[in-house]
Amino acid sequence: MKLARHILIALILGAIVGLVMNFTIPSIFPYIDKYFFSPLGSIFINLIKMLVVPLVFFSIVLGTANIGDPKKLGKIGVRSVAFFLLTTAIAITIAIILASIIKPGMVGTFNTEGLSYESQKAPAVTDTLLGIIPTNPVAAFVEANMLQIIFFSVFIGIALAFLGERVKTVLKVIDEGNEIMMYLVTLVMKFAPYGTFGLIASAIGKQGFDAIKAMGLYMIVVILALIVHFILVYGGALKFMAKKDPIQFVKDFFPAMTIAFSTSSSSATLPVSMDIAQKKMGVPKSISSFVQPLGATVNMDGTAIMQGVATVFIAQVYDVNLTLTQLAIVVIIAVLASIGTAAVPGAGLIMLAMVLNAVSLPVEGIALIIGIDRILDMARTAVNVSGDAVCAVYVTHVEKIKDEEHIENDRSLPQAQ
Ligand code: ASP
Repeated sequence: MKLARHILIALILGAIVGLVMNFTIPSIFPYIDKYFFSPLGSIFINLIKMLVVPLVFFSIVLGTANIGDPKKLGKIGVRSVAFFLLTTAIAITIAIILASIIKPGMVGTFNTEGLSYESQKAPAVTDTLLGIIPTNPVAAFVEANMLQIIFFSVFIGIALAFLGERVKTVLKVIDEGNEIMMYLVTLVMKFAPYGTFGLIASAIGKQGFDAIKAMGLYMIVVILALIVHFILVYGGALKFMAKKDPIQFVKDFFPAMTIAFSTSSSSATLPVSMDIAQKKMGVPKSISSFVQPLGATVNMDGTAIMQGVATVFIAQVYDVNLTLTQLAIVVIIAVLASIGTAAVPGAGLIMLAMVLNAVSLPVEGIALIIGIDRILDMARTAVNVSGDAVCAVYVTHVEKIKDEEHIENDRSLPQAQ
């Protein structure tokens, strides 16, 4: 709790310092940023990123080996993916409804002449899905390809479970490797307040506030949709599907949310969010280590919300009426796009091009929102990582009930003589 308080203070201080410098010494700020704020932030991000790949590998191998039964693992996987897809579809729907009611693209004037946006090549969803099998696991580790690492680790875990006694030394090494990584997460987190301060001061100090003025209503709609989704969908899922107190969830998970907020990267937040889920929220290692890395890669409700609002916004600015069918296409494509979105800063914007293309909206419209996207990226990444944790808590609850039913059934069976 003390750490959470320190991170929060750092966040607020960073925002104030960045804001004040932005207004008072805008010409000197780039130097202060280059030699102080940015390096401070980078030290923290790099330290925590350093742990992601080994942590995900060790913990998934361990988790899979502990579950032992591939069928049970498959069920957990299917349940999680269903939860991810459903919540993402709801997220975009909320975004589209709010943007259609508030109409951020109809208020104010937006100059669309001469806008240009260089679309980057977005990976096709089919490629992402087919590419899950690593033909070269070492390359997967080197490139930090999360889906491939998950796939490979699950297989190693299954092998360990089946081979049992014969490979118990390897299992022990992996268990201890996992311990080491978890210890390092706690150690690196001690630097979190300083890193957060640097990251936020840098982001706010660099922000162009004229852009915010023009795009104010769009930003409000995105943030409103994020809040509505968080309260209704996550709050509802926790209370009714997982029988957990949503307020307690926020209290426990708060440090991870602030790290997501300051780093704008679900993947960099992974070590912290897994640590909290396992130590504070009663999620077993076997579930946390499987559901959360998977979620960090494929489940991005916050990103989907931005894409939903942005699509409606751009349609309004360009005076295009989207039909219901087109809106349904937006929902489907945005779900797919958020699966393919890399868990790094700004990735959601690249995938937005895919959504716009699907309904023939001008991709140049992205140029309107690019200036303020960094701030929204912070907020949506906090929602992205929360969704993964909510799913882990939900799956834990379902598995617990199933285990209890098993025990009950076993008890009610007539005892063999
Ligand atoms: N920054 C987001 C994440 O890592 C992805 C995005 O929406 O740009 O979760």
